[in-house]
Amino acid sequence: MEHTVPEHTVPEHIATDRVIIAGGGPTGLWVELRLAGTPVTVLEARHERDPHSKALTLHPRTLEVLAFRGVAEPFLAEGRRIPSGHFGGLDDRMDFAVLDTPYPFTLALPQARTEELLEAHAVAAGADLRRGHRVTGLTQDADGVSVEATGPDGPYTLRAAYVVGCDGTRSTVREAAGIAFPGTDATTWGWLGDVVLDDPPKGAVYAASGPAGGVMAVPMPGGLHRIVGGDPDSNGPDHPGELTLDALRAKVTRIAGTDFGMRDPSWLSRFGNATRQAAAYRQGRVLLAGDAAHMHYPAGGVGLNVGVQDATNLGWKLAATVAGTAPGALLDSYHAERHPVGADLLLSTRAQTALMNAQSPEGQDLRTLLSQLVATVPAFSRSLAERLSALAVTYPPTPPGHPLTGHRAPNLELAGSPDLFTALRPGRYVLLDFTGTPAPVSGPGVVPHTAPRPADRPAWSTVRAALIRPDGHVAWASDEQDAGALEAEIRTAVSATTGLGVDAP
Ligand SMILES: Cc1cc2nc3c(=O)[nH]c(=O)nc-3n(C[C@H](O)[C@H](O)[C@H](O)COP(=O)(O)OP(=O)(O)OC[C@H]3O[C@@H](n4cnc5c(N)ncnc54)[C@H](O)[C@@H]3O)c2cc1C
Repeated sequence: MEHTVPEHTVPEHIATDRVIIAGGGPTGLWVELRLAGTPVTVLEARHERDPHSKALTLHPRTLEVLAFRGVAEPFLAEGRRIPSGHFGGLDDRMDFAVLDTPYPFTLALPQARTEELLEAHAVAAGADLRRGHRVTGLTQDADGVSVEATGPDGPYTLRAAYVVGCDGTRSTVREAAGIAFPGTDATTWGWLGDVVLDDPPKGAVYAASGPAGGVMAVPMPGGLHRIVGGDPDSNGPDHPGELTLDALRAKVTRIAGTDFGMRDPSWLSRFGNATRQAAAYRQGRVLLAGDAAHMHYPAGGVGLNVGVQDATNLGWKLAATVAGTAPGALLDSYHAERHPVGADLLLSTRAQTALMNAQSPEGQDLRTLLSQLVATVPAFSRSLAERLSALAVTYPPTPPGHPLTGHRAPNLELAGSPDLFTALRPGRYVLLDFTGTPAPVSGPGVVPHTAPRPADRPAWSTVRAALIRPDGHVAWASDEQDAGALEAEIRTAVSATTGLGVDAP
């Protein structure tokens, strides 16, 4: 007679196929382990979500990865679409409408609402979210990780196969794992106020800058405006102290010539430009993602976006590893692929911080020059926009292969499915066949699709078959013309890449 043990009867301290996420911020809520049925427990220290929204901006690549899971719609329905983005608060904005994506805009949506929507998705997908549970330490051994936490009933230990530290810049997980966080301390402090404006500026986004500093004003839901900026008075290593409404009024008036009739702040805050990056994104059974892995000035509105994209890169790899189907170094590729993206994020935010603090006459001229380039050289503007929006992220191909390997796949048209992004929803590899006579290749880890030749995309026009990873990047591609040779290549690629083998014809 067969016995099955219901999952809830397995004592918590010995359940080793579980993954623990420390931190239920945007990054932790989007680690997509549920794709492969992996049990996930999210331990979140806060009893209630922070009502104040640091982030207000979602970028195109984030909307794309939400679309891969079929959950982009509520974000799109509620957010305000702005067909441009700023770099370092330059007066002229980058045109996002030219970007090759179904979402050619920045989406203004407060972080608190973004988290609410991500949480609904995580819980619906089966995540065990525990609020009021703080991770306090961990130890790892050959078989798993023991995570120490404190919850409403006191301290306890949970056993897991892996733990992902998504617990923000002061990450307990990072510290407990002994992962270094090198970088630089704050030298300047930005300020923000979520306020009512009796005399608001016109337009979707207001920006002004000059020798007295820079300020932006962005409408928020609930009749509020986010006033955010920086000025030379806020430079120095020490936190300048609590921001008052009067101080904010004075700063904005000095820069913009008016305080826009600001009153009734719901939040006043300052933030520094300390810039650090974890030396390793993986150490054994411990992984880091989001602000736990990278810390920087919030220039360009990208931190949350990069965290969600870290989680997208990690989730399917970790799920395959826990399921025992991941080929060799798949989990190590998380650090190899995402650490350079984090380094580029630090470079971009540092460069933008320099621009935002360029109040000298020379600095003002640099701003003017770059702003003119953004306005008059479309290729310059587009390149900056593709970097900021993460559409340009390419992973190093291992081993080197077709020129498309590692690139983000655009939303290609398919036969029998609306498009590639829809075909990615099950969270499996998608095998694209552009020959018109699909090779008889399938397997448990891959969904085959035929697709019309993408003649309008030069980089794709000679491709005969391609394998797309669950995170939408090209795992393998081939221009092979001979049908038999192509089929053999596909079999080898599918088998080696997915680690799941292929079915016999
Ligand atoms: C002023 C400002 C404006 C910004 N604007 C933007 C923007 O427009 N767009 C953008 O993309 N980014 C923006 N950012 C950055 C963005 O807010 C962060 O990058 C984002 O919150 C990172 O998400 P996260 O989940 O990695 O970390 P966090 O949001 O810090 O979440 C970490 C979570 O872990 C929990 N936690 C901490 N320690 C523990 C523990 N020991 N145990 C359990 N739980 C723990 C915390 O309570 C928290 O819920 C802005 C930041 C600031 C300061």
